[in-house]
Amino acid sequence: MTKVVPVPEGLEVDVVVSPLFEENCYLVRVAGSRTAVVIDPGLDAESVAELVTSRQLEVAAILNTHGHADHIAGNEFLKRCWPGAELVIGRDDANKLTDPIANLSAPFGVSLISPPADRQVVGGEELAYGPLRLLVQATPGHSRGHVVFSTEPTTSPAAIFGGDVLFRESVGRTDFPDGDAAALATSIRSVLYTCPDDTIVYPGHGPPTTVGHEKRANPFVPGAL
Ligand SMILES: [Zn+2]
Repeated sequence: MTKVVPVPEGLEVDVVVSPLFEENCYLVRVAGSRTAVVIDPGLDAESVAELVTSRQLEVAAILNTHGHADHIAGNEFLKRCWPGAELVIGRDDANKLTDPIANLSAPFGVSLISPPADRQVVGGEELAYGPLRLLVQATPGHSRGHVVFSTEPTTSPAAIFGGDVLFRESVGRTDFPDGDAAALATSIRSVLYTCPDDTIVYPGHGPPTTVGHEKRANPFVPGAL
């Protein structure tokens, strides 16, 4: 299922929502550019590929916010379609790509793996694909190697592709083996809540939200202590 979401001026974003876990995969590019990145391809990679083809785009990178199965399930299919696409994930989640126990697919009775990472990131890197610039920031808590990808300062407002850190009026689970509730709250406060209030957060599940809305209305990690 594809959905229409609000986007910053100059950016184009499509969303493909996977069945089962309702995971959001984002197809992102600078308006007018054919160079796109796919963020967190889930269980419906065929729809993502169809969308890329229908929009006459090229996939320059597959970016994973973290290594849980519902976010990496489409990596292999997209790599086959676009072998030159750079597969990027946080260093401390890279093992999940090839370990069905660590990526939580084995507990669901399937053994899901991905090609290995082409590039492991730790936060602070600036990724460049055509005219698109994305800042990587480390956001541990939901998983140890979780990262988010931000367009700050190249779009106004900024967009953050946030995976399973901050949802609209909710937050990511921390009851997995490498989850850490205190680290998650610190990541949200130090990385996301320090962005301007109009920053759009595109989460891994559910509708987009803004930093300002969550600082005011998030019951799990309020903006003010
Ligand atoms: Zn997850």
